[in-house]
Amino acid sequence: MNPPAISTALISALVIALSSCQKTPDMTQSSAPAVTQEPFGTLPDGRPVQIYSLSNSKGTTARVMEYGAILVSLETPDAAGHTADLTHGFDTLQEWVDKNGPYFGATVGRFGNRIAHGRFTLDGKSYTLATNNAPGGIPCHLHGGLKGFNQALWHGRIVDDQTVEFRHTSPAGEEGYPGTLELTVTYSLNDDNELTWEATATTDAPTVINLVHHSYWNLSGDPSTSITDHQLTLHAPHYLPTNAGLIPTGQIAPVAGTPMDFTTAHVIGERIDADFEALRFGAGYDHCWVLEAGQGVRPAARLEDPKSGRIMEIFTNQPAIQCYAGNFLDGSVTGKQGVAYQRRTALCLETENFPDAPNQPDFPSCVLRPGETYKHTLIHKFSTR
Ligand code: BGC
Repeated sequence: MNPPAISTALISALVIALSSCQKTPDMTQSSAPAVTQEPFGTLPDGRPVQIYSLSNSKGTTARVMEYGAILVSLETPDAAGHTADLTHGFDTLQEWVDKNGPYFGATVGRFGNRIAHGRFTLDGKSYTLATNNAPGGIPCHLHGGLKGFNQALWHGRIVDDQTVEFRHTSPAGEEGYPGTLELTVTYSLNDDNELTWEATATTDAPTVINLVHHSYWNLSGDPSTSITDHQLTLHAPHYLPTNAGLIPTGQIAPVAGTPMDFTTAHVIGERIDADFEALRFGAGYDHCWVLEAGQGVRPAARLEDPKSGRIMEIFTNQPAIQCYAGNFLDGSVTGKQGVAYQRRTALCLETENFPDAPNQPDFPSCVLRPGETYKHTLIHKFSTR
């Protein structure tokens, strides 16, 4: 018996069918923004923690979780199309709970950054907070105290196909701060490759507030390499000089003619160890830059990794940005895939109000009163050269 004749038309149809099968992975990559949710683990007290995955058509995926309203990972392709995670952090919830001394990825508050001596006065009443940090041997209050919002279990929910919302209530008196605070943090990932972190808060009594997003970025995607080769631009003509305890002196100093000048792009390592008082106090860059004055969300920073070609631009509605070059990382914290995070392997770009604002009347006010709404927008926009 002769085998049935296969027509040319049938062969072409088979070839088309097969080649469209092979395209399936690409089609998945170019799918519209989507959010999924799954359990990530349980806290020591048994409360379950959910993790959410936001993805877009640019091949970017952000994972965020209820514990600490933390950005767990941010994967995006480089100029050659290789995807990698750009953030420091941990693989398991247990490690996030046990080892996150550096505040990797966290939503920090009630007052992010430092308050001198852990004390402030508001409407004539004095408040005492924990002194949980002591740069230069000078104690201060850092990032909300002993158990800040980075250690709270927030309540998450998927809002739409590109947004996850976390809610949390901080009771009056928690960590010594007055006023019950009702907080909302959203993470959104859109098809313009923008990851937005937005925080809002209201209070039932006057309080101070400075919520900060605290991710550690290494745009190379290799967390064992230094970020001193990254190029940084800051839309900031001034910075805040500090004392040895990293508390602002109150002066608002021009960056012009100093190693703090990033108004044009500079390689971070070029001047980080310069013989300059601010850099000695911070053991490198660990300072608050005052952004160009303006209203609303505006450009704050641009970071570029020449090796991978990745670029991250930062936009915010805040008056300032803390740039911390990971000077205090020393290899003692082991994170994702067993990597020991060494000095200067990541850069934090923390949009914020001025540090120690509760004690410095000439700084922008950080006081939130009943009837007012605090709103902080931070956009990370990813692209490649
Ligand atoms: C500060 C650093 C501090 C770090 C803690 C940063 O926001 O600027 O001085 O060591 O947080 O992780």
